Amino acid sequence: MENTAKIALVTGGSRGLGKDMALRLAEKGIDVILTYNSKAEEAQQVVSQIQQGGRKAAALQLNTGEVKSFGAFSDQLKDVLNGTFGTGHIDFLVNNAGIGGYKLISEVTEDFFDELLNIHFKGVYFLTQGLIPLMNDGGGIVNISSGLTRVSFPRSSAYAAMKGAIEVFTRYLAKELGPRGIRANTVAPGAIMTDFGGAHLRSSEESQKQVSAVTALGRPGVAEDVGGVVAFLCTEEAGWVNGQRIEVSGGMML
Ligand code: NDP
Repeated sequence: MENTAKIALVTGGSRGLGKDMALRLAEKGIDVILTYNSKAEEAQQVVSQIQQGGRKAAALQLNTGEVKSFGAFSDQLKDVLNGTFGTGHIDFLVNNAGIGGYKLISEVTEDFFDELLNIHFKGVYFLTQGLIPLMNDGGGIVNISSGLTRVSFPRSSAYAAMKGAIEVFTRYLAKELGPRGIRANTVAPGAIMTDFGGAHLRSSEESQKQVSAVTALGRPGVAEDVGGVVAFLCTEEAGWVNGQRIEVSGGMML
């Protein structure tokens, strides 16, 4: 039987922000394929949670920094779509997977730079390029950026520059895919207490105090602050939101 539900692919859906996005998307009646890099078990738990809620879900391994593996990933994705979801297409792509990396400009090595570049920019660019042919017209792309493209902290130059590139790329996606009715938006989270960057925010009360002091709503973010915004962007209600950067930071450094 042909699938009628919309389908979203969320990279890095095994934990943190991506997990919450996957769960919130499913709550909106959207089926979800999530990817993980190393944490297969965590990814499978998210899949089970979504299935228990009555939606279809699957998890696939993907290193978003390895562009050469994307062809094989697309083939795997097509197999899963046809086998489990009864269709050959997805409706939404959420480029969320990522790692932290903090060094002063004077300390950044080429290897450090390239790792961030591959995961946060080159990988997002070419994964999106490869998946656009698998997207239904009328769907959407959400790219996850960071508050650090608007405000500057020492040691985040390379990471923030890659995220800035993603914001520009998103506007070009919106422009070029508009004729197909595919929208593209950026969600830029503030400081969120996940495993990100060695869980430095979640494990440091001092950092939490610093973030709270510069946030209008007076606390650091949690994953649950962000997933619903991404899910909303994948609904018809958000059908006129296109080419935008939406910051989700509780009003950080206004
Ligand atoms: P987490 O560390 O909690 O989760 C990272 C997720 O990305 C995991 O699912 C992980 O998979 C996956 N991942 C990491 N590296 C790779 C890779 N090379 N290939 C594929 N998947 C990978 O981070 P967050 O949830 O906090 O971060 C999600 C996104 O949000 C990132 O893009 C980050 O830059 C951005 N962000 C985060 C902020 C924060 O304060 N937390 C603030 C602003 C933006 P696995 O579980 O298998 O390792």
